[in-house]
Amino acid sequence: SLSLQSVSKHFGPVKAVDGIDLDIGQDEFFSLLGPSGSGKTTMLRIIAGLERPTAGRVLVRGQDVTAMPPYKRRIGMVFQNFLLFPHKTVAENIVFPLRMQNVGRAERGERLVWAMKLLRLDGLAERYPNELSGGQQQRVSLARGLISRPALLLLDEPLANLDRELRAEMEVEIRRYQKELNIPFVYVTHNQEEALTMSDRIAVMRNGVFEQIGPRNDVYRKPATAFVAAFVGQSN
Ligand code: ATP
Repeated sequence: SLSLQSVSKHFGPVKAVDGIDLDIGQDEFFSLLGPSGSGKTTMLRIIAGLERPTAGRVLVRGQDVTAMPPYKRRIGMVFQNFLLFPHKTVAENIVFPLRMQNVGRAERGERLVWAMKLLRLDGLAERYPNELSGGQQQRVSLARGLISRPALLLLDEPLANLDRELRAEMEVEIRRYQKELNIPFVYVTHNQEEALTMSDRIAVMRNGVFEQIGPRNDVYRKPATAFVAAFVGQSN
């Protein structure tokens, strides 16, 4: 589970995140939906520990991690542009976080097998990223995000660079991984269709605050404001 308590991040006069309170349950697929500049990425970076909030606290499984560096938080991250190391093989890319944590060779091997199986990457261990399809690269990126058995996975527009068909396929897969692993996924997107397909609950962000938060059907069928109605009604 994840809790944010009165979390803010101000950059001078810009209130990127402005007093957010949020509790996400263990079994939840949670999406942050909003236009460019609404504060989604900043919020994710605060949860990850890449950004220090100007106020408030972040708790992971009840533990206050606000002052903890990213690598101690047991949080996995997957980004839009994959950020795979081009000169490392698939296997080396995936186990990289474990090397950072000084996990021993035997355990690295076991977890690699687990992650490759989960993400259906069998047979690709010795390939290089440029020898993979976009979907395979994204699966490698997910495997790397999950190999440390995180308490929580953060995903920032992970499908933005994929074509439409592949995106639809990956939406279903990512949703399935979340249910299988039973850890919260916090998914950032400006694509309302993605949020609708995948999420249990959605928060629509605007200017650093939640314009509306609720089960996905509420957000789509009963938009609380004209802004939400316009935003979820648009097609990409
Ligand atoms: P996008 O969908 O374009 O990524 P976003 O919803 O993720 O947008 P953020 O990147 O979180 O939005 O930005 C929120 C606000 O904070 C914006 O007004 C942005 O200009 C501002 N901001 C973000 N990072 C910084 C920074 N390092 N310094 C100053 N302002 C920043």
